[in-house]
Amino acid sequence: MTARLVIMGPQGAGKGTQAARLAERLGVPAISTGDIFRANIKGGTELGVLAQSYTARGDLVPDSVTNDMVRDRLAQGDVEGGFILDGYPRNAAQVTELDAILADRGVALDAVVELTADRDVLLERLARRAELEGREDDTPESIARRLDIYAEQTAPLTTAYAERGLLVRVDGIGAIDEVTERLVAALDDASVPGAV
Ligand code: ADP
Repeated sequence: MTARLVIMGPQGAGKGTQAARLAERLGVPAISTGDIFRANIKGGTELGVLAQSYTARGDLVPDSVTNDMVRDRLAQGDVEGGFILDGYPRNAAQVTELDAILADRGVALDAVVELTADRDVLLERLARRAELEGREDDTPESIARRLDIYAEQTAPLTTAYAERGLLVRVDGIGAIDEVTERLVAALDDASVPGAV
């Protein structure tokens, strides 16, 4: 069974955690653009050097860079049986690009999951993550910038996906296991292959 999914949600909603768990359940890779940037920054690659000034400030890396990176990743053999994209698309131009990448490969998305949570819960979780993980972009300024960009550019994309009948909204508040079960049940309701 193939499942091609996008997972969206504001910073702190638990996207990365849930994407990894869901990927394991479905037997598909979770592809996080943020993780790919962080790995490149750590490795000192050309892509990492380019991305770092943007990620540190909480700005989006330019579409020309991000789109090429995603196109390359989605051309790899391990995504043939499906994938979960975490952190992409994040703006309207990236939605268009993802449509083109998938059309070129003759495939389509099965669902777009939106994980929701209130801003006060998000801020609390992000403050805890900043202490635990020490991510360079978990400064108060960068967190505020990312949440603003999410609200302005990313959240509106859910409307477009809802119009296509692809949107599955899941409440991200609660214990990690509880949210995973909710997610799997919601995908099953939406008839996404292989969710249960
Ligand atoms: P968060 O969801 O907490 O912002 P991510 O790990 O998803 O964390 O992303 C970290 C950073 O990587 C972003 O702030 C941005 O600079 C960059 N990035 C990730 N995905 C994209 C994307 N689709 N387009 C542009 N930049 C991106």
